[in-house]
Amino acid sequence: MSASTLTGPLTAELVSDLTCTSGETLPVIAPFTGAILHELPASSAADVADAYAAARIAQRSWRAVGFAHRRAVLLRAHDLLIERRNELLDILQTESGKTRGQAFEEIFEGASVTRYYAVSARNVLRTRRRRSGIPIVIKTRVSYKPKGVVGVITPWNYPIALSIMDVIPALAAGNGVVQKADNQGALSILASRRAFIDAGVPAALWGIVAGDGAEVGNAVVDGADYVCFTGSTATGTKVGERATSRLVGSSLELGGKNPLIVLDDVDPVTAAKDAVYAVFSSMGQLCVSIERIYVARSVATQFTAALVERVNSLHQGPALDYSTDVGSLTSAAQLARVQAHVDDAVAKGATVLAGGTARPDLGPFFFEPTVLTDVSPDMQCFAHETFGPVVAIAIVDSADEAIAAANATEFGLNASVFSGSVARARRIADLLDAGSVNINEGYRASFSSTDAPMGGMKQSGMGRRNGHEGLLRFVEARTVAEATGILTLPRTGTEWAKMTGLMIVALRVLKGVRRR
Ligand code: NAD
Repeated sequence: MSASTLTGPLTAELVSDLTCTSGETLPVIAPFTGAILHELPASSAADVADAYAAARIAQRSWRAVGFAHRRAVLLRAHDLLIERRNELLDILQTESGKTRGQAFEEIFEGASVTRYYAVSARNVLRTRRRRSGIPIVIKTRVSYKPKGVVGVITPWNYPIALSIMDVIPALAAGNGVVQKADNQGALSILASRRAFIDAGVPAALWGIVAGDGAEVGNAVVDGADYVCFTGSTATGTKVGERATSRLVGSSLELGGKNPLIVLDDVDPVTAAKDAVYAVFSSMGQLCVSIERIYVARSVATQFTAALVERVNSLHQGPALDYSTDVGSLTSAAQLARVQAHVDDAVAKGATVLAGGTARPDLGPFFFEPTVLTDVSPDMQCFAHETFGPVVAIAIVDSADEAIAAANATEFGLNASVFSGSVARARRIADLLDAGSVNINEGYRASFSSTDAPMGGMKQSGMGRRNGHEGLLRFVEARTVAEATGILTLPRTGTEWAKMTGLMIVALRVLKGVRRR
Protein backbone atom coordinates (compact mmCIF):
# COMPACT_ATOMS: atom_id res chain seq x y z
CA MET A 1 0.00 0.00 0.00
CA SER A 2 1.22 3.54 -0.69
CA ALA A 3 0.12 6.97 0.39
CA SER A 4 -1.90 7.25 -2.82
CA THR A 5 -3.78 4.00 -2.10
CA LEU A 6 -4.80 5.50 1.19
CA THR A 7 -6.29 8.58 -0.48
CA GLY A 8 -8.80 6.34 -2.23
CA PRO A 9 -11.90 4.46 -1.12
CA LEU A 10 -10.37 3.10 2.09
CA THR A 11 -9.77 6.59 3.48
CA ALA A 12 -13.25 7.76 2.48
CA GLU A 13 -14.77 4.72 4.15
CA LEU A 14 -12.75 5.22 7.33
CA VAL A 15 -13.46 8.93 7.73
CA SER A 16 -17.18 8.27 7.23
CA ASP A 17 -17.03 6.81 10.77
CA LEU A 18 -16.19 10.23 12.25
CA THR A 19 -18.95 12.18 13.95
CA CYS A 20 -18.71 15.23 11.74
CA THR A 21 -21.23 17.52 10.07
CA SER A 22 -19.31 20.80 9.76
CA GLY A 23 -18.43 20.27 6.10
CA GLU A 24 -14.96 21.66 6.79
CA THR A 25 -11.82 19.67 6.14
CA LEU A 26 -8.18 19.85 7.20
CA PRO A 27 -5.29 18.57 5.07
CA VAL A 28 -3.23 15.73 6.53
CA ILE A 29 0.33 15.35 5.18
CA ALA A 30 2.00 11.96 4.60
CA PRO A 31 5.39 12.26 6.32
CA PHE A 32 7.28 9.92 3.99
CA THR A 33 6.45 12.04 0.92
CA GLY A 34 5.15 15.44 2.04
CA ALA A 35 2.08 14.93 -0.19
CA ILE A 36 -1.43 15.55 1.08
CA LEU A 37 -2.58 12.16 2.34
CA HIS A 38 -6.23 13.16 2.61
CA GLU A 39 -8.56 15.93 3.64
CA LEU A 40 -9.83 15.09 7.12
CA PRO A 41 -13.41 16.19 7.93
CA ALA A 42 -13.31 18.50 10.97
CA SER A 43 -15.83 18.00 13.77
CA SER A 44 -17.44 20.91 15.59
CA ALA A 45 -18.47 21.31 19.24
CA ALA A 46 -22.02 20.40 18.16
CA ASP A 47 -20.72 17.14 16.68
CA VAL A 48 -19.07 16.34 20.00
CA ALA A 49 -22.39 16.89 21.77
CA ASP A 50 -24.09 14.54 19.28
CA ALA A 51 -21.41 11.92 19.86
CA TYR A 52 -21.97 12.13 23.63
CA ALA A 53 -25.76 11.83 23.23
CA ALA A 54 -25.38 8.70 21.09
CA ALA A 55 -22.75 7.19 23.40
CA ARG A 56 -24.96 7.78 26.45
CA ILE A 57 -27.81 5.80 24.90
CA ALA A 58 -25.50 3.00 23.75
CA GLN A 59 -23.78 2.84 27.16
CA ARG A 60 -26.98 1.86 28.98
CA SER A 61 -27.29 -1.37 27.00
CA TRP A 62 -23.53 -1.99 27.01
CA ARG A 63 -23.46 -1.76 30.78
CA ALA A 64 -26.45 -4.09 31.02
CA VAL A 65 -24.99 -6.86 28.81
CA GLY A 66 -22.43 -7.63 31.51
CA PHE A 67 -18.86 -8.78 31.69
CA ALA A 68 -19.17 -12.13 29.88
CA HIS A 69 -20.56 -10.53 26.73
CA ARG A 70 -18.03 -7.71 26.79
CA ARG A 71 -15.22 -10.20 27.28
CA ALA A 72 -16.31 -12.23 24.24
CA VAL A 73 -16.55 -9.10 22.07
CA LEU A 74 -13.14 -7.80 23.13
CA LEU A 75 -11.45 -11.16 22.58
CA ARG A 76 -12.91 -11.24 19.03
CA ALA A 77 -11.53 -7.74 18.48
CA HIS A 78 -8.12 -8.95 19.69
CA ASP A 79 -8.15 -11.58 16.92
CA LEU A 80 -9.27 -9.06 14.29
CA LEU A 81 -6.45 -6.68 15.23
CA ILE A 82 -4.00 -9.51 14.57
CA GLU A 83 -5.72 -10.64 11.34
CA ARG A 84 -5.76 -7.09 9.98
CA ARG A 85 -2.25 -6.20 11.12
CA ASN A 86 -0.76 -5.65 7.67
CA GLU A 87 -3.44 -3.14 6.67
CA LEU A 88 -3.14 -1.44 10.07
CA LEU A 89 0.66 -1.31 9.82
CA ASP A 90 0.43 0.28 6.35
CA ILE A 91 -1.95 2.97 7.58
CA LEU A 92 0.03 3.60 10.75
CA GLN A 93 3.33 3.94 8.93
CA THR A 94 1.85 6.13 6.21
CA GLU A 95 0.31 8.49 8.75
CA SER A 96 3.22 8.60 11.23
CA GLY A 97 6.40 7.96 9.22
CA LYS A 98 7.58 5.36 11.74
CA THR A 99 9.27 2.08 10.84
CA ARG A 100 7.28 -1.12 10.47
CA GLY A 101 8.90 -2.67 13.57
CA GLN A 102 7.90 0.28 15.70
CA ALA A 103 4.43 0.29 14.15
CA PHE A 104 4.17 -3.38 15.09
CA GLU A 105 4.89 -2.45 18.72
CA GLU A 106 1.55 -0.62 18.64
CA ILE A 107 -0.38 -3.61 17.32
CA PHE A 108 1.25 -5.88 19.90
CA GLU A 109 0.52 -3.47 22.73
CA GLY A 110 -3.04 -2.89 21.51
CA ALA A 111 -3.81 -6.60 21.30
CA SER A 112 -2.16 -7.28 24.70
CA VAL A 113 -4.12 -4.56 26.45
CA THR A 114 -7.37 -5.72 24.84
CA ARG A 115 -6.81 -9.31 26.00
CA TYR A 116 -5.74 -8.18 29.46
CA TYR A 117 -8.86 -6.15 30.16
CA ALA A 118 -11.20 -8.62 28.44
CA VAL A 119 -9.95 -11.34 30.76
CA SER A 120 -9.41 -9.40 33.99
CA ALA A 121 -12.21 -6.78 34.16
CA ARG A 122 -14.79 -9.06 35.77
CA ASN A 123 -12.51 -10.17 38.57
CA VAL A 124 -11.14 -6.70 39.34
CA LEU A 125 -14.59 -5.12 39.36
CA ARG A 126 -16.72 -7.81 40.98
CA THR A 127 -18.65 -6.89 44.10
CA ARG A 128 -16.66 -7.86 47.17
CA ARG A 129 -17.30 -8.20 50.88
CA ARG A 130 -15.14 -5.84 52.93
CA ARG A 131 -14.55 -6.01 56.64
CA SER A 132 -17.02 -3.84 58.50
CA GLY A 133 -15.99 -1.60 61.39
CA ILE A 134 -18.23 -3.56 63.79
CA PRO A 135 -18.25 -7.30 63.14
CA ILE A 136 -21.59 -9.12 63.38
CA VAL A 137 -23.50 -5.85 63.67
CA ILE A 138 -22.64 -4.51 60.20
CA LYS A 139 -22.00 -6.23 56.84
CA THR A 140 -20.23 -4.27 54.12
CA ARG A 141 -19.83 -4.73 50.38
CA VAL A 142 -18.20 -2.64 47.68
CA SER A 143 -19.45 -2.60 44.11
CA TYR A 144 -18.33 -0.62 41.11
CA LYS A 145 -20.43 1.50 38.81
CA PRO A 146 -19.12 2.63 35.42
CA LYS A 147 -18.58 6.39 35.26
CA GLY A 148 -20.78 6.76 32.17
CA VAL A 149 -19.18 8.22 29.06
CA VAL A 150 -15.43 8.84 29.15
CA GLY A 151 -13.77 11.57 27.09
CA VAL A 152 -10.45 10.43 25.61
CA ILE A 153 -7.98 12.81 23.94
CA THR A 154 -5.02 11.23 22.16
CA PRO A 155 -1.88 12.52 20.40
CA TRP A 156 -0.44 11.58 17.01
CA ASN A 157 2.64 9.63 18.02
CA TYR A 158 1.16 6.26 19.10
CA PRO A 159 -2.41 6.53 17.82
CA ILE A 160 -3.40 2.85 18.04
CA ALA A 161 -1.67 1.82 21.26
CA LEU A 162 -2.51 4.95 23.24
CA SER A 163 -6.17 4.86 22.15
CA ILE A 164 -6.58 1.24 23.14
CA MET A 165 -4.81 1.74 26.48
CA ASP A 166 -7.51 4.22 27.52
CA VAL A 167 -10.59 3.27 25.48
CA ILE A 168 -10.60 -0.50 26.04
CA PRO A 169 -10.45 -0.52 29.85
CA ALA A 170 -13.18 2.14 29.80
CA LEU A 171 -15.36 -0.11 27.61
CA ALA A 172 -14.46 -3.26 29.58
CA ALA A 173 -15.76 -1.54 32.72
CA GLY A 174 -19.08 -0.80 30.98
CA ASN A 175 -18.58 2.80 29.87
CA GLY A 176 -19.06 4.55 26.56
CA VAL A 177 -16.33 6.71 25.02
CA VAL A 178 -16.08 9.87 22.94
CA GLN A 179 -12.54 10.16 21.63
CA LYS A 180 -10.83 13.15 20.07
CA ALA A 181 -8.27 11.75 17.68
CA ASP A 182 -5.31 13.92 16.76
CA ASN A 183 -5.80 14.74 13.08
CA GLN A 184 -2.48 13.12 12.15
CA GLY A 185 -3.47 9.78 13.73
CA ALA A 186 -7.17 9.69 12.91
CA LEU A 187 -7.00 7.08 10.12
CA SER A 188 -5.02 4.67 12.29
CA ILE A 189 -7.53 5.08 15.11
CA LEU A 190 -10.54 4.67 12.82
CA ALA A 191 -9.04 1.57 11.19
CA SER A 192 -8.24 -0.11 14.52
CA ARG A 193 -11.65 0.90 15.92
CA ARG A 194 -13.24 -0.98 13.01
CA ALA A 195 -11.85 -4.21 14.44
CA PHE A 196 -13.79 -3.54 17.65
CA ILE A 197 -16.98 -2.52 15.84
CA ASP A 198 -16.83 -5.62 13.62
CA ALA A 199 -16.30 -7.72 16.75
CA GLY A 200 -19.51 -6.37 18.30
CA VAL A 201 -18.79 -3.04 20.02
CA PRO A 202 -21.76 -0.81 19.11
CA ALA A 203 -20.50 2.00 16.84
CA ALA A 204 -22.26 4.72 18.84
CA LEU A 205 -20.62 3.48 22.05
CA TRP A 206 -17.19 4.64 20.83
CA GLY A 207 -17.63 7.93 19.01
CA ILE A 208 -14.67 9.55 17.26
CA VAL A 209 -14.24 13.25 16.58
CA ALA A 210 -11.33 15.21 15.11
CA GLY A 211 -10.52 18.79 14.19
CA ASP A 212 -9.36 21.88 16.03
CA GLY A 213 -7.51 20.92 19.23
CA ALA A 214 -8.99 23.57 21.50
CA GLU A 215 -12.55 23.67 20.12
CA VAL A 216 -13.09 19.93 19.88
CA GLY A 217 -10.87 19.12 22.87
CA ASN A 218 -12.74 21.52 25.15
CA ALA A 219 -16.08 20.08 24.05
CA VAL A 220 -14.81 16.55 24.78
CA VAL A 221 -13.73 17.59 28.28
CA ASP A 222 -16.99 19.45 28.93
CA GLY A 223 -19.20 16.48 28.05
CA ALA A 224 -17.25 13.78 29.88
CA ASP A 225 -17.89 11.90 33.12
CA TYR A 226 -14.14 11.22 33.26
CA VAL A 227 -11.30 12.46 31.06
CA CYS A 228 -8.21 10.63 29.78
CA PHE A 229 -5.68 12.92 28.19
CA THR A 230 -2.39 11.98 26.56
CA GLY A 231 -0.22 14.76 25.20
CA SER A 232 1.96 17.65 26.25
CA THR A 233 2.24 18.93 29.81
CA ALA A 234 1.06 22.38 28.67
CA THR A 235 -2.21 21.12 27.16
CA GLY A 236 -2.71 18.45 29.82
CA THR A 237 -2.57 21.06 32.58
CA LYS A 238 -5.40 23.00 30.89
CA VAL A 239 -7.43 19.83 30.37
CA GLY A 240 -7.01 18.77 34.00
CA GLU A 241 -8.06 22.21 35.27
CA ARG A 242 -11.09 22.28 33.01
CA ALA A 243 -12.26 18.84 34.11
CA THR A 244 -11.63 19.61 37.79
CA SER A 245 -13.72 22.78 37.56
CA ARG A 246 -16.73 20.46 37.01
CA LEU A 247 -15.46 18.01 39.68
CA VAL A 248 -14.78 15.49 36.95
CA GLY A 249 -11.70 13.31 37.40
CA SER A 250 -8.92 12.93 34.87
CA SER A 251 -5.83 10.92 34.13
CA LEU A 252 -3.11 12.94 32.45
CA GLU A 253 -0.32 11.15 30.59
CA LEU A 254 2.16 13.88 29.72
CA GLY A 255 5.70 14.58 28.62
CA GLY A 256 9.06 13.32 29.84
CA LYS A 257 12.81 13.94 29.74
CA ASN A 258 13.72 10.37 30.39
CA PRO A 259 17.17 9.46 31.76
CA LEU A 260 19.23 6.30 31.25
CA ILE A 261 21.93 5.46 33.78
CA VAL A 262 24.77 3.26 32.50
CA LEU A 263 26.68 1.80 35.45
CA ASP A 264 30.35 0.83 35.50
CA ASP A 265 29.62 -2.93 35.46
CA VAL A 266 27.94 -3.17 32.03
CA ASP A 267 29.15 -4.71 28.81
CA PRO A 268 29.51 -1.36 26.99
CA VAL A 269 28.78 -2.75 23.51
CA THR A 270 25.53 -4.49 24.51
CA ALA A 271 24.52 -1.46 26.56
CA ALA A 272 25.11 0.79 23.55
CA LYS A 273 22.89 -1.37 21.32
CA ASP A 274 20.03 -1.26 23.82
CA ALA A 275 20.52 2.45 24.40
CA VAL A 276 20.24 3.21 20.68
CA TYR A 277 16.87 1.47 20.48
CA ALA A 278 15.68 3.24 23.62
CA VAL A 279 16.56 6.64 22.18
CA PHE A 280 15.64 6.41 18.49
CA SER A 281 12.55 4.21 18.46
CA SER A 282 9.79 6.08 16.57
CA MET A 283 12.43 8.78 16.00
CA GLY A 284 12.29 9.65 19.68
CA GLN A 285 8.66 10.69 19.29
CA LEU A 286 7.63 8.52 22.17
CA CYS A 287 6.81 9.80 25.62
CA VAL A 288 8.98 7.13 27.29
CA SER A 289 12.00 7.28 24.99
CA ILE A 290 15.40 8.21 26.42
CA GLU A 291 16.78 11.75 25.92
CA ARG A 292 19.56 11.82 28.56
CA ILE A 293 22.31 9.27 29.19
CA TYR A 294 24.51 9.33 32.32
CA VAL A 295 27.40 6.94 31.84
CA ALA A 296 30.01 5.86 34.39
CA ARG A 297 33.43 7.29 33.62
CA SER A 298 35.18 3.89 33.52
CA VAL A 299 33.02 2.65 30.62
CA ALA A 300 32.22 5.99 28.99
CA THR A 301 34.79 5.87 26.18
CA GLN A 302 33.89 2.35 25.06
CA PHE A 303 30.16 2.88 25.48
CA THR A 304 30.13 6.16 23.57
CA ALA A 305 32.25 4.79 20.73
CA ALA A 306 29.97 1.74 20.41
CA LEU A 307 26.88 3.92 20.52
CA VAL A 308 28.13 6.28 17.83
CA GLU A 309 29.18 3.37 15.64
CA ARG A 310 25.74 1.80 16.04
CA VAL A 311 23.95 5.09 15.26
CA ASN A 312 26.03 5.56 12.13
CA SER A 313 25.07 2.09 10.94
CA LEU A 314 21.29 2.54 11.34
CA HIS A 315 19.36 2.20 8.11
CA GLN A 316 17.03 5.17 7.74
CA GLY A 317 14.40 5.68 5.07
CA PRO A 318 10.77 5.36 4.01
CA ALA A 319 9.70 1.74 3.62
CA LEU A 320 6.45 -0.09 4.30
CA ASP A 321 8.37 -3.20 5.33
CA TYR A 322 10.89 -4.23 7.97
CA SER A 323 13.97 -3.07 6.01
CA THR A 324 14.62 0.14 7.98
CA ASP A 325 15.77 0.82 11.56
CA VAL A 326 14.62 4.43 11.81
CA GLY A 327 11.97 6.36 9.92
CA SER A 328 10.84 9.95 9.55
CA LEU A 329 9.65 12.61 11.94
CA THR A 330 5.89 12.94 11.67
CA SER A 331 5.44 16.57 10.69
CA ALA A 332 7.08 19.82 9.63
CA ALA A 333 6.46 21.14 13.16
CA GLN A 334 8.38 18.21 14.63
CA LEU A 335 11.26 18.77 12.21
CA ALA A 336 11.40 22.46 13.16
CA ARG A 337 11.41 21.63 16.89
CA VAL A 338 14.19 19.06 16.59
CA GLN A 339 16.29 21.30 14.32
CA ALA A 340 15.83 24.20 16.76
CA HIS A 341 17.01 22.11 19.74
CA VAL A 342 20.10 20.89 17.87
CA ASP A 343 20.97 24.33 16.44
CA ASP A 344 20.59 25.94 19.86
CA ALA A 345 22.79 23.31 21.51
CA VAL A 346 25.50 23.59 18.85
CA ALA A 347 25.45 27.40 18.98
CA LYS A 348 25.98 27.25 22.76
CA GLY A 349 28.90 24.81 22.59
CA ALA A 350 27.51 21.26 22.42
CA THR A 351 29.53 18.70 20.47
CA VAL A 352 27.75 16.60 17.81
CA LEU A 353 29.06 13.03 17.97
CA ALA A 354 26.65 11.70 15.34
CA GLY A 355 23.91 13.06 13.07
CA GLY A 356 22.80 16.63 13.57
CA THR A 357 21.21 17.44 10.24
CA ALA A 358 18.02 16.97 8.27
CA ARG A 359 17.89 14.44 5.43
CA PRO A 360 15.64 15.99 2.77
CA ASP A 361 17.08 13.49 0.29
CA LEU A 362 15.13 10.75 2.14
CA GLY A 363 11.90 12.70 2.61
CA PRO A 364 10.72 16.12 3.79
CA PHE A 365 10.77 15.44 7.57
CA PHE A 366 13.71 13.06 7.94
CA PHE A 367 16.37 14.01 10.49
CA GLU A 368 19.48 12.05 11.37
CA PRO A 369 19.63 10.22 14.69
CA THR A 370 21.71 12.66 16.71
CA VAL A 371 24.11 12.18 19.62
CA LEU A 372 25.30 15.23 21.57
CA THR A 373 27.73 15.75 24.39
CA ASP A 374 28.85 18.85 26.36
CA VAL A 375 25.18 19.79 26.80
CA SER A 376 24.73 22.49 29.47
CA PRO A 377 21.74 23.89 31.39
CA ASP A 378 21.47 26.99 29.16
CA MET A 379 20.58 24.81 26.16
CA GLN A 380 16.93 24.06 25.31
CA CYS A 381 17.59 20.35 25.01
CA PHE A 382 19.07 20.13 28.52
CA ALA A 383 15.78 20.23 30.41
CA HIS A 384 13.01 20.56 27.81
CA GLU A 385 11.55 17.55 26.06
CA THR A 386 12.86 17.39 22.48
CA PHE A 387 10.45 14.60 21.49
CA GLY A 388 12.79 13.71 18.67
CA PRO A 389 15.89 11.68 17.76
CA VAL A 390 18.35 13.57 19.94
CA VAL A 391 20.22 12.30 23.00
CA ALA A 392 22.73 14.02 25.28
CA ILE A 393 25.50 11.95 26.89
CA ALA A 394 27.13 13.05 30.15
CA ILE A 395 29.84 11.28 32.17
CA VAL A 396 29.32 10.69 35.90
CA ASP A 397 31.74 9.62 38.64
CA SER A 398 29.35 7.68 40.85
CA ALA A 399 25.92 6.07 40.92
CA ASP A 400 24.82 8.74 43.40
CA GLU A 401 25.78 11.48 40.96
CA ALA A 402 23.84 9.70 38.21
CA ILE A 403 20.73 9.36 40.40
CA ALA A 404 20.86 13.03 41.39
CA ALA A 405 21.24 14.12 37.75
CA ALA A 406 18.47 11.78 36.59
CA ASN A 407 16.08 13.20 39.20
CA ALA A 408 17.02 16.84 38.54
CA THR A 409 14.10 17.46 36.20
CA GLU A 410 10.53 18.64 36.41
CA PHE A 411 9.47 15.41 34.67
CA GLY A 412 9.12 11.89 36.07
CA LEU A 413 7.78 9.56 33.40
CA ASN A 414 10.30 6.85 32.56
CA ALA A 415 13.87 6.03 33.53
CA SER A 416 16.27 3.24 32.79
CA VAL A 417 19.23 1.61 34.52
CA PHE A 418 21.77 -0.59 32.74
CA SER A 419 23.90 -2.75 35.01
CA GLY A 420 25.59 -6.14 35.19
CA SER A 421 23.87 -6.60 38.56
CA VAL A 422 20.09 -6.63 38.59
CA ALA A 423 20.11 -6.30 42.39
CA ARG A 424 22.18 -3.12 42.13
CA ALA A 425 19.96 -1.76 39.38
CA ARG A 426 16.83 -2.46 41.46
CA ARG A 427 18.27 -0.53 44.40
CA ILE A 428 18.86 2.43 42.10
CA ALA A 429 15.40 2.06 40.54
CA ASP A 430 13.89 2.59 43.99
CA LEU A 431 15.63 5.98 44.19
CA LEU A 432 14.46 7.32 40.83
CA ASP A 433 11.50 9.71 40.62
CA ALA A 434 9.78 8.09 37.65
CA GLY A 435 6.50 6.26 37.11
CA SER A 436 8.33 3.43 35.37
CA VAL A 437 11.93 2.23 35.58
CA ASN A 438 13.35 -0.27 33.11
CA ILE A 439 16.36 -2.41 33.93
CA ASN A 440 18.62 -3.33 31.00
CA GLU A 441 15.90 -2.10 28.63
CA GLY A 442 14.87 1.38 27.57
CA TYR A 443 11.08 1.38 27.77
CA ARG A 444 9.72 -1.88 26.37
CA ALA A 445 9.95 -3.86 29.59
CA SER A 446 7.50 -1.62 31.42
CA PHE A 447 5.48 -0.59 28.35
CA SER A 448 4.64 -4.22 27.57
CA SER A 449 3.78 -5.07 31.21
CA THR A 450 0.05 -4.54 30.79
CA ASP A 451 -0.66 -5.82 34.31
CA ALA A 452 1.49 -3.03 35.81
CA PRO A 453 0.52 0.64 36.05
CA MET A 454 2.06 3.20 33.71
CA GLY A 455 2.12 6.95 34.26
CA GLY A 456 4.10 9.92 35.37
CA MET A 457 5.28 11.65 38.52
CA LYS A 458 5.76 15.42 38.82
CA GLN A 459 5.00 17.28 35.55
CA SER A 460 4.66 13.99 33.64
CA GLY A 461 1.10 13.55 34.75
CA MET A 462 -1.49 12.21 37.15
CA GLY A 463 -3.14 8.83 37.37
CA ARG A 464 -2.11 5.55 35.82
CA ARG A 465 -3.07 3.49 32.79
CA ASN A 466 -2.61 -0.29 32.50
CA GLY A 467 -3.04 -2.79 35.32
CA HIS A 468 -5.88 -2.72 37.83
CA GLU A 469 -5.17 0.97 38.35
CA GLY A 470 -5.95 1.64 34.69
CA LEU A 471 -9.38 0.02 35.06
CA LEU A 472 -10.34 1.52 38.41
CA ARG A 473 -10.11 5.00 36.83
CA PHE A 474 -13.34 4.27 35.01
CA VAL A 475 -15.60 3.28 37.88
CA GLU A 476 -17.13 4.81 40.96
CA ALA A 477 -16.71 2.67 44.05
CA ARG A 478 -19.98 2.29 45.88
CA THR A 479 -20.09 1.01 49.48
CA VAL A 480 -23.26 -0.76 50.58
CA ALA A 481 -23.21 -1.42 54.34
CA GLU A 482 -26.12 -3.05 56.15
CA ALA A 483 -27.23 -3.39 59.73
CA THR A 484 -27.56 -7.14 60.33
CA GLY A 485 -30.09 -6.74 63.14
CA ILE A 486 -28.21 -9.28 65.28
CA LEU A 487 -27.31 -6.46 67.66
CA THR A 488 -28.56 -2.90 67.36
CA LEU A 489 -26.34 0.17 67.54
CA PRO A 490 -27.08 2.55 70.45
CA ARG A 491 -29.73 5.21 69.73
CA THR A 492 -30.06 6.96 73.11
CA GLY A 493 -27.73 8.21 75.80
CA THR A 494 -28.77 5.32 78.08
CA GLU A 495 -28.06 2.75 75.38
CA TRP A 496 -24.65 4.37 74.74
CA ALA A 497 -23.87 4.16 78.44
CA LYS A 498 -24.50 0.40 78.32
CA MET A 499 -22.62 -0.20 75.09
CA THR A 500 -19.40 1.78 75.43
CA GLY A 501 -17.75 -0.77 77.70
CA LEU A 502 -18.49 -3.56 75.21
CA MET A 503 -17.23 -1.43 72.34
CA ILE A 504 -13.93 -0.68 74.12
CA VAL A 505 -13.46 -4.42 74.68
CA ALA A 506 -14.22 -4.99 71.00
CA LEU A 507 -11.58 -2.40 69.96
CA ARG A 508 -8.96 -4.07 72.16
CA VAL A 509 -9.77 -7.54 70.88
CA LEU A 510 -9.68 -6.36 67.24
CA LYS A 511 -6.28 -4.78 67.82
CA GLY A 512 -5.11 -7.90 69.67
CA VAL A 513 -5.95 -10.16 66.75
CA ARG A 514 -4.51 -7.56 64.32
CA ARG A 515 -7.78 -7.40 62.45
CA ARG A 516 -7.57 -5.04 59.47
P1 NAD B 1 -0.59 18.12 22.42
O1 NAD B 1 -0.77 18.39 23.85
O2 NAD B 1 -0.26 19.22 21.52
O3 NAD B 1 -1.89 17.41 21.81
C1 NAD B 1 -2.46 16.24 22.35
C2 NAD B 1 -3.93 16.19 21.98
O4 NAD B 1 -4.60 17.27 22.62
C3 NAD B 1 -4.21 16.33 20.49
O5 NAD B 1 -5.29 15.48 20.13
C4 NAD B 1 -4.64 17.79 20.37
O6 NAD B 1 -5.45 18.05 19.26
C5 NAD B 1 -5.40 17.97 21.67
N1 NAD B 1 -5.54 19.36 22.12
C6 NAD B 1 -4.86 20.44 21.71
N2 NAD B 1 -5.29 21.53 22.39
C7 NAD B 1 -6.24 21.12 23.24
C8 NAD B 1 -7.05 21.76 24.23
N3 NAD B 1 -6.95 23.06 24.48
N4 NAD B 1 -7.93 21.01 24.93
C9 NAD B 1 -8.03 19.69 24.73
N5 NAD B 1 -7.29 19.03 23.80
C10 NAD B 1 -6.41 19.73 23.07
O7 NAD B 1 0.53 16.98 22.35
P2 NAD B 1 1.18 16.34 21.05
O8 NAD B 1 2.20 17.28 20.52
O9 NAD B 1 0.14 15.85 20.15
O10 NAD B 1 1.91 15.05 21.68
C11 NAD B 1 3.22 15.08 22.11
C12 NAD B 1 3.28 15.16 23.62
O11 NAD B 1 2.55 14.09 24.18
C13 NAD B 1 4.68 15.01 24.15
O12 NAD B 1 4.90 15.92 25.19
C14 NAD B 1 4.70 13.59 24.69
O13 NAD B 1 5.64 13.36 25.69
C15 NAD B 1 3.30 13.44 25.18
N6 NAD B 1 2.92 12.02 25.27
C16 NAD B 1 2.76 11.47 26.50
C17 NAD B 1 2.43 10.11 26.61
C18 NAD B 1 2.29 9.45 27.96
O14 NAD B 1 1.77 8.33 28.02
N7 NAD B 1 2.73 10.05 29.04
C19 NAD B 1 2.25 9.35 25.46
C20 NAD B 1 2.42 9.97 24.22
C21 NAD B 1 2.74 11.32 24.15
